[in-house]
Amino acid sequence: MALITGGGTGLGLATAQRLARRGYSLVLASRSPAHLAAGARALRRRGAEVLTVPTDIREYDQVVALVDRVAEQFGRLDVLVNNAAGNFIVPTEKLTPNGWRAVVGIVLDGTFYASRAAFPLLRRAPRPSIVNIAASYAWLAGPGTAHSAAAKAGVVALTRTLAVEWARYGIRVNAVAPGPIRTSGTDRQLWNDRTLVARVTRGIPLGRFGRPEDVAAAIDFLVGPDASYITGEVLTVDGGQWLGHGVMELLPSLPHRRRQQNP
Ligand code: NAP
Repeated sequence: MALITGGGTGLGLATAQRLARRGYSLVLASRSPAHLAAGARALRRRGAEVLTVPTDIREYDQVVALVDRVAEQFGRLDVLVNNAAGNFIVPTEKLTPNGWRAVVGIVLDGTFYASRAAFPLLRRAPRPSIVNIAASYAWLAGPGTAHSAAAKAGVVALTRTLAVEWARYGIRVNAVAPGPIRTSGTDRQLWNDRTLVARVTRGIPLGRFGRPEDVAAAIDFLVGPDASYITGEVLTVDGGQWLGHGVMELLPSLPHRRRQQNP
């Protein structure tokens, strides 16, 4: 069974759908009952067993209660995906301490809280695994993302530390670092400007934005048997964006540059 924080929307829901196809039962946890209900409806339509637990991941007591519900209902936990996040673009000189705390609280505290609370249940599973969702801007230094980038960099550090500490319990801990992914949420908030979308696309060597399914496929791989010897890894899913950073602008005039077709 798999627990996905923020599993009612975006990448979390795409991951839930992917894992449901693999036969996992799912627990979705986030604050909004409406997000959870919509996610659960989409999953149940395809026959998945789903439990939703309204949870604010910043509150450790709520996270402990969430894991208790999982234990009660399923008696096991095989996969934890720490996906919940909050973010907004803001120049650091305008970022308030509250804004900083909110984002770091969800992303970094939330990842620690869920991992810590889930540990006793996870360690009893036959092939337990955690996947944390980081972001390539943790090391790309994207302007306006200081709070989120710092929190995601912390998530990467936590991933590697827990991978080493919890290997003795058989728990693998990995991360996926998405680049720009288009979801209905990011289309509304971020990618609603065609010029910006075109500009970002030009900076992606594979020539397209990522889709939630690209991230879900990476998570599916990391929790599956083919990744049984992989732990502490950060798998970047960004079409090569961070490697080509700053240089891609030079390429459009070269004849061999070809946009990747959506698979
Ligand atoms: P999203 O749809 O906004 O997902 C964020 C989820 O987190 C929501 O379901 C939200 O649900 C939940 N959440 C927020 N605050 C919470 C809290 N305090 N407690 C519990 N749950 C909370 O965004 P997304 O694009 O799918 O992002 C998913 C993950 O991918 C995040 O970790 C994000 O940083 C990462 N990522 C995304 C991109 C991208 O381009 N989309 C790029 C890099 C990394 P509620 O509102 O119901 O609480």
